[in-house]
Amino acid sequence: MRDGLRIARLFGIDIRLDWSWLLIFALITLNLSAVFAQQQPEWSLALRWSLAIGTSVLFFASVLVHELAHSLTAVGQGIKVRNITLFLFGGVSNIQRQPESPGSEFLITIVGPVSSIILGVMFLVLAGLPGIMTDPMGTIETLGPAATVFSLLGSVNLVLGVFNLIPGFPLDGGRLLRSGLWAATGDLTRATRWASWVGQGIAWLLIAAGVAMIFGIQIPFFGTGFINGLWLVFIGWFLSSASRRSYQQVVIEDMLEDVPVSRLMRGSPPTVSPDITLDELVDGYIMSSSDRSFPVLENGVLIGLIALSDVREYARSEWPTTRVRQAMTPREALDTVDPNEDAAEALQKLVRRDLRQLPVQEGEQFVGLLRRQDIVKWLQLQSDGGQPQFA
Ligand SMILES: [Zn+2]
Repeated sequence: MRDGLRIARLFGIDIRLDWSWLLIFALITLNLSAVFAQQQPEWSLALRWSLAIGTSVLFFASVLVHELAHSLTAVGQGIKVRNITLFLFGGVSNIQRQPESPGSEFLITIVGPVSSIILGVMFLVLAGLPGIMTDPMGTIETLGPAATVFSLLGSVNLVLGVFNLIPGFPLDGGRLLRSGLWAATGDLTRATRWASWVGQGIAWLLIAAGVAMIFGIQIPFFGTGFINGLWLVFIGWFLSSASRRSYQQVVIEDMLEDVPVSRLMRGSPPTVSPDITLDELVDGYIMSSSDRSFPVLENGVLIGLIALSDVREYARSEWPTTRVRQAMTPREALDTVDPNEDAAEALQKLVRRDLRQLPVQEGEQFVGLLRRQDIVKWLQLQSDGGQPQFA
């Protein structure tokens, strides 16, 4: 998933909004204002809308608390957190790497649902109505505006906490299951594979239940109806692909673990001088090789990278007079890797920034170029050989 729009920074962690979040925010707000209009006809239009918007904002704040619980625990375990992104299905904490032990994964995971459940109970207490849990919508008519908002948030947080405990990897419940399997087998890849199977099984059950609901069949807990059914199919489909993807990611990280960048990089790639023109670059380098980008070196020091896409920024007529120095991406704007770095981490950098290659720097010395295609070749070699990871 893309990183989305950055809206805040809390405890050193970027909080981002994916565009799909706007859609779900609008849907929830619209839906709430319709419910309020039906149940509380005496409320003014302004009151209904401000309560609907306020409830949606507090709902997403609750999701954020859930994710912050995961992220801050991860930080406490010495794992860096890249960001928290809110999107269509709630929130996701993008943590830098897999936890080191089953215990650590268990801890990082369990705090999410637990904080949702605590929030849920808190909101219900604020609403002053523990009895609301049995029928949140039915009792709304008897509540004031604040109690209405709190009771809705209370039940939603409880549902959030409980839904996340479904053992479908990569949901929290699936991660808890994986940490258990991991502790039992001592094998993270195998544990992930099993947890991913359970996750896909559950995803297909959700899809089947959703389809049944679309055709008017009553499903316990989920109810019935076209929209609810469609939503459930959607969640099931998302869970199924997320579960497959997380497994692939673990397998890839497994294959790249302990493989240093220096082993996969291109050792002495063709480099160019900053003083040649784009014309000379195109004729002398780009057209005569299959390379699409070239490190720019001045006195043996890396000062930038020039790629085909940089050249395209200039009109053909400007090529003879434009120097590589003007057109290149300068060193300050480049991400680099160390030759001793794990290839798994380098791949994450490539994917996160959507890059084709990374210059490899040992201290201040340029030593090579790590291209995405080199990593892909390595992965193909590993999997074609029938490595045990795929057994
Ligand atoms: Zn969670």
